[in-house]
Parts: sequence; C-alpha cells; structure tokens
Amino acid sequence: EAKLAGKNRYHVFDAEQERSTRGRHQSVARLRRALLAGEFVLHYQPKVDMRSGRLIGAEALIRWQHPELGMLLPGAFLPEIEHHALAIDVGEWVIDTALAQIGAWAADGVVVPVSVNISAQHLQRVDFAERLQALLQAHPEVEPALLELEVLETSALEDMAHVSAVMKACARMGVGFALDDFGTGYSSLTYLKRLPVKVLKIDQSFVRDMLDDPEDLAILQGVLGLAVAFGRIALAEGVESAAHGERLLQLGCTQAQGYGIARPMPAAALPGWARAWTPPPQWAAGRILDAA
Ligand code: C2E
Ligand code: MG
Ligand code: MG
Ligand code: MG
Repeated sequence: EAKLAGKNRYHVFDAEQERSTRGRHQSVARLRRALLAGEFVLHYQPKVDMRSGRLIGAEALIRWQHPELGMLLPGAFLPEIEHHALAIDVGEWVIDTALAQIGAWAADGVVVPVSVNISAQHLQRVDFAERLQALLQAHPEVEPALLELEVLETSALEDMAHVSAVMKACARMGVGFALDDFGTGYSSLTYLKRLPVKVLKIDQSFVRDMLDDPEDLAILQGVLGLAVAFGRIALAEGVESAAHGERLLQLGCTQAQGYGIARPMPAAALPGWARAWTPPPQWAAGRILDAA
C-alpha cells in the first residue's frame, strides 16, 4: 500500500513538474518577446554623498513596461528566467543600455557613474570579461570607470578563484564592483576578503530598523568598521527618512540611497533631480557637528 501511495505521489509530482515546466517555457517566450519588442526600461535611483549633497551615482533598475499590466518591478519577472540563457541576454541588454545612458548624460554635460545589478549566473560565465570588454568597446565614448557592477552578497558563487579572476580582469578594464545586500548572506566575510569589491552596500533591512533595533544598529556599525578596516566604501541602502540619514552620518556613513532621498526615476528625470535636490537640514547640522 505504501508503495502504491508512493507511486501515486510520484505521478502527481510528475504532472506538477510538467505543468510548471510548460509555464516556464511560456514565461521565457513572453519575456524574450518583451526584450525584442523593447518593453524593458531602466529606471535610475540616485546615490548621494549625504555630507555634501552631491550625486555620486545612480543604480540602474530594470522595469517591464507591460502593454496590458503597466510597469512591472523586477521581482515580478526576473525570477521566471533565472537559470535560463535569456537571463544572460537581458543582463547584456541592461549593461548596454546603461552604457548608452552614461554616454547620453555625458553628452548633456552630466557625468553620472551608473551601477548595474549582475546575476551570479551571468558573472560566472567563462566569457564574462570578454563580453564586457566588447560591450565597453561598443561605447568608446564611455569611461569604463563610470560603470559599476553590483553582485548580490547572497549569490552562491561556486568557484571563488574563477570569480575573483574574472572580477580582477574587469577591474583592469576600469570597471568597479559592489557587494549588494551586504550582511544578508552566509559569505559576507569570505567575499569581503577574497573579492576585489570597492563598495559594500549595506542591506536595507539593517538600515530600516537601526533606529529601533539595537542588534541591527550593531550589525550596521560592524559593517562600517569592516569597510574601514578593509579600505572599502560603505553605502547605506534603504534610507527612508531624514532621521536615518542623520544617524548614519553620526556613525560615519556618508554614502546613501533610498526613498528618503529619491525613488528610482526615468533617465530623463535624473539631471533635473540632481540640480534641484538639497539634503534635509538635519544633515547639514550633522555636517557642522562633524567639522567642529
Ligand atoms: P537591489 O539591487 O538591492 O535594489 C534596491 C531595491 O530596493 C530596488 O527595488 C529599489 O527600488 C528598492 N529601494 C530603494 N530604496 C528603497 C527604500 O528606501 N525602501 C525600500 N523599501 N525599497 C527601496 P527594485 O527595483 O524592485 O529591485 C529589486 C531587486 O531586483 C534589486 O535589488 C536587484 O537585486 C534586482 N534587480 C533590479 N534590476 C535588475 C537588473 O537589471 N538585473 C538583475 N540581475 N537584477 C536586478
Ligand atoms: Mg543593487
Ligand atoms: Mg540591495
Ligand atoms: Mg535587494
């Protein structure tokens, strides 16, 4: 009897597997069509130096301008193509589009370093560095140092020696790296020690709760200490209020990104935003305190 149940279960599982495989084929086909139809867009979220109020860069974030459903966030469609070759094509489209945007802004007299999110799957391709080189060569007007690649600290990088070599090859071209969502994975310290990353992006969960949760504050302080010890830059993600920024400045963290500064916006809006934005007065107070 147990055997029969087992067999039935296997059968049910099989049918589900089959359904989800078919569903996946359909989403991959839909997303491939969307890519070809030019329905993906990049929005850009400013990163600032809270001390000076200067724009220090922008993070490119993909959106799908769906003809019926409207603007879709990456969480709604990127997982569908994870582990599929199409994810590489989308990743290359993102890098190419970001490079074109850096060039377009530069032509308008605005220099904006742009960071792009890169999946571990993409970064671990044997030809990643060569393909990046080709993309950079397609945009000779763009200084490679204006491109930064963000790699999730939670990503399971299988062959550290290989990934580290790829990242070093990219770094030689001038491209920088950041560890994204730093502190949320199991490999923070190993990655920090072994990978040539300039920037640690402190995950927004620690930043969001640092004002009320002493443990999150302790983690945040720990990461800031690590950044100093390792000669890396710390950037706080998810700065949602002036109070968050003020506290971060007191802790010595000056680089930040978050809804309290600006939401991700279309490329055309960024230069105007950068001209108009001034930091909240509390941050200026922090500045005076700091100088004294
Ligand atoms: P991420 O790289 O950590 O990007 C930050 C995410 O947090 C963005 O969500 C951003 O809109 C959101 N965010 C920014 N400030 C705040 C804040 O103050 N509060 C809160 N609650 N959220 C804030 P988004 O655009 O939905 O992207 C989600 C994730 O999708 C990104 O997380 C990144 O891992 C991934 N992603 C986005 N674009 C791409 C892409 O082009 N390629 C790849 N591979 N992944 C991407
Ligand atoms: Mg990111
Ligand atoms: Mg992040
Ligand atoms: Mg994230």
